[in-house]
Amino acid sequence: MDKIASLCKRRGIIFPGSDIYGGLANTWDYGPLGAELKRNVKNLWWTTFVHRRRDVVGLEASILMHPRVWEASGHVQNFNDPLVDCKTCKARFRADHLIEERLGLAVEGKTPAQMSEIIVEAKLKCPNCGNATLTEARQFNMMFSTTIGPVSETGTQVYLRPETAQAMFVQYKNVVATGRVKVPFGIAQIGKAFRNEITPGNFIFRQLEFEQMEIEYFVKPDEAAGAFEEWLSAMRGWLRTIGVRDDHIRVREHEQEELSHYSSRTVDFEYQFPGSMGWKELYGLANRTDFDLSRHQEVSGEDLQYFDQAENRKYIPYVIEPTFGVDRTCLVLLIDAYDEEETIDVNGKPDTRVVLRLHPRIAPYKAAVLPLMKKPELAEPARRLFDELVSATGALIEYDETGNIGKRYRRQDEIGTPFCFTFDFDSLDDHAVTVRHRDDMSQERLPIAEVPAWLSERIR
Ligand code: ATP
Repeated sequence: MDKIASLCKRRGIIFPGSDIYGGLANTWDYGPLGAELKRNVKNLWWTTFVHRRRDVVGLEASILMHPRVWEASGHVQNFNDPLVDCKTCKARFRADHLIEERLGLAVEGKTPAQMSEIIVEAKLKCPNCGNATLTEARQFNMMFSTTIGPVSETGTQVYLRPETAQAMFVQYKNVVATGRVKVPFGIAQIGKAFRNEITPGNFIFRQLEFEQMEIEYFVKPDEAAGAFEEWLSAMRGWLRTIGVRDDHIRVREHEQEELSHYSSRTVDFEYQFPGSMGWKELYGLANRTDFDLSRHQEVSGEDLQYFDQAENRKYIPYVIEPTFGVDRTCLVLLIDAYDEEETIDVNGKPDTRVVLRLHPRIAPYKAAVLPLMKKPELAEPARRLFDELVSATGALIEYDETGNIGKRYRRQDEIGTPFCFTFDFDSLDDHAVTVRHRDDMSQERLPIAEVPAWLSERIR
């Protein structure tokens, strides 16, 4: 993970948040290439689950919502993490993470009192200062709050949303009223969510501010189990589309006591992260039943029943929710893609080649156009090829004419550019370029006229 974090910083993929001020824990910024990677993930997801499906529509809702939304959803009451403080050094930790890491016990679903008992019995010490001075575990709400209005005493307290899902429930009635959807249908959204996470580390895995891609899929109650299975397989299909390795993924069913307050069945898609991190949640799929719509109906007083014309009856739909973390997707793509290869450099010396084997669909740059040397007679036609590629593919293409060609290839390898088109002096006569493949460094000659179609086909 350290190697990936350092490559990300060196190559402008991901920087620590507020870096020149010494950083702000658990915040990260996507640099020029990371912004492209992330955008590719989100665009592909939207195309896959909204544009290509006739039963899913999109939504872009506000991050700030009426405070009663979070009472209705149960987040004010239930969205808590069990925390312990150290009386000596004042550091704060997640009780469940501490127990899991130190004792290897899974404690999800246990009460703070039960966790405190385990901590006392095992004589767990503060990971920061080493003293056995940890407090009892207490529940701590993870929502960030802020105040609307100029004066905090008289203003309205609101929360930064901890999930995008609630907006789909709150706007469900408006979406149905526009008349373009019939159960079963889904509402999809990509957007920021905020959680006051305590446990640091593991690069971008756990952040205070992150993005989710979520679908709330509204179904007839007796069709919920079948829809769950369909989404399970659609989520597997998505992982294949973005090129995540199958053997790094497992699907884990939640135990009864682990289920969230709204869920009757949940599975996690877990990814095998490197080193001590091991298997951790990448995505989730939950049957939220009619919990959210029923609660919003109760608290808002609005009738949220669906009138099923075919059956001539009203009911509150059940909801199947596939949820995908954007940042965790980027992280596993980087981990899966990262490779070091022993090779020889241009001077014949042993060398390590770092290569990001990102799927061409996801890679920030789809290709690079490289004139062999910085000469006007090469630059002019190479620039023309670059312009043609940009307009043919609509994708981000790199143009780089400085430095030795071997070093330029290595730079493209490190940022995951799948193809380089090298324009040399022969190109002026044979109207062809050399295509250099990132993954095996093989080279072939291709007529310039064929390059735009050749590339379009490979990045689609
Ligand atoms: P965890 O158990 O790791 O805290 P969670 O079960 O709380 O995750 P969900 O509430 O199911 O997560 O959120 C849906 C998705 O949002 C997760 O599968 C994950 O991809 C992403 N996610 C959740 N919390 C964070 C975070 N703090 N930083 C980055 N991504 C997150």
